[in-house]
Amino acid sequence: MRQSIILILLLLSALNIVSQNTTLEGKLIVANPQDIEIVKNELEVYLTSCGPDKMIDVGDDLTFKFENLQPGEYELLFFPNGDTDYLNRKIYIDSGKRIVNFETYYFYNCRYNISENNKTCPKCKKENRVIPVKYGLIISSGNPTDYWPGGCIVFDCQPHWYCKRDKIEF
Ligand SMILES: [Zn+2]
Repeated sequence: MRQSIILILLLLSALNIVSQNTTLEGKLIVANPQDIEIVKNELEVYLTSCGPDKMIDVGDDLTFKFENLQPGEYELLFFPNGDTDYLNRKIYIDSGKRIVNFETYYFYNCRYNISENNKTCPKCKKENRVIPVKYGLIISSGNPTDYWPGGCIVFDCQPHWYCKRDKIEF
């Protein structure tokens, strides 16, 4: 009698493991202070896959959560679109994990607006190894240590500075 109860308990716990679905817990890193109100009040997060899409709003703590996810490949979409890193949006849910944590940057405005008039490196917090990024056709007589070549194509949203210490554009 006791053995069969143990067996039933084992069977129930095994079923529980099989039916356990994954929760995706996301957090947005909002670097531009003026974007925070947009994220709290307007931003919707869509999780798309082969099944029906799921949609949620972002909480005041800039987090979002999708529950009961089956294993598979998903993609996150944000509305309003903003300027997110597209490569970061693919999410893989595997059956072994109950909770998947995910963080991504979200910029409603161009992420480089905050550095336009501020050449302090966001990493080392210093200015002494920071040089401007120049775009377009660069005149060959210029001294290449005075600027960082940003390429010849000019977009609306591009870095203004390059830190030689940290090798980052911002
Ligand atoms: Zn730096």
